Amino acid sequence: MKTFSSILTLITMLFSSNTLAKELFTFTPIQHATFVLQSGDVTIYVDPVGEAAAFAGFPPPDLILITHIHRDHLAPELVTTLKQDNSRIFGPPTVIEQLGYGMVLKNGETTEAAGIKIETIPAYNTTSERLDFHPRGRDNGYVLSKDGVQLYISGDTEDIQEMRQLQNIDIAFVCINLPFTMTIEQAASAVNAFKPGIVIPYHYRGKPDMSDIDAFERLVTDSKVHKQKWY
Ligand code: ZN
Ligand code: ZN
Repeated sequence: MKTFSSILTLITMLFSSNTLAKELFTFTPIQHATFVLQSGDVTIYVDPVGEAAAFAGFPPPDLILITHIHRDHLAPELVTTLKQDNSRIFGPPTVIEQLGYGMVLKNGETTEAAGIKIETIPAYNTTSERLDFHPRGRDNGYVLSKDGVQLYISGDTEDIQEMRQLQNIDIAFVCINLPFTMTIEQAASAVNAFKPGIVIPYHYRGKPDMSDIDAFERLVTDSKVHKQKWY
């Protein structure tokens, strides 16, 4: 697995007219649904899977956020390898059960860690033939907040009401793939409803094909689309 060297400094763009501009979150894609967030001296691994070597260039994790049990999101052996004694690990009940450690966050629960507010947002399928992939109530999306900046991580979901009703999201990571999550049209419809400042499509490798991220970008009306090298 490759570690991509491009680091997007998100907040500088958001506050480009603000003389107090500072970097609140930087972000490095690892692959598919796996990425590293850094906020000041706080390092967050999101859904770490793959080779431990992909994380070698980053500080050890202060926080590890896991959305659900699928193997493209949860690798228990890797989490055990990567975590430090002081790492704090969060996930829904099914994830924490598989890990055997960490803190359970159910849908709708909120906590704070390392100066970052962590709110869970449901993540589930709504289309009849997809319901078994992500049953309602099991999995998490997350909204992270720090100093008034809000970052949304969708997890695996369709364009559910809980996403469409989000407010004041600056940065949104939104999944797109079939048959497991949603179409580009669903994703764009949701993004056009909650209007994040920046949307980063991720998790768009599906079966048999990748979703067309350029077509997604053309459907988004009010948000900046930042395409990254996830694959
Ligand atoms: Zn999944
Ligand atoms: Zn997935």
